[in-house]
Amino acid sequence: MRKLTQDQKDQAVENKRILGERQGGKCYYCDIHFERDNVIPHAAHIIIDSVVNIRKYGYEILDNIKNFKITCPNCNPKAIITNPESQTGIDHIEAIRKEIEL
Ligand SMILES: [Zn+2]
Repeated sequence: MRKLTQDQKDQAVENKRILGERQGGKCYYCDIHFERDNVIPHAAHIIIDSVVNIRKYGYEILDNIKNFKITCPNCNPKAIITNPESQTGIDHIEAIRKEIEL
């Protein structure tokens, strides 16, 4: 597990809150409502923060709010783009890059 600085932790908590709100307190994929159904929300990476991906893309991309969906534990794996070099992966990463450069 990578060690996060306090700033990174605070940012992660804040991102999770913002996204959770945007999704109306519900899982991105199914109809589970976290509070009503007493389910713990996951901040699911779209491009996962593996050693290889960190080296390739950096934290700025992987920790970006756009690289997450809020899911229930069961739906967590649905968020993942398994191959970042697929067209879907490339488009996703490009969209985040553009955002960062603005
Ligand atoms: Zn779900």
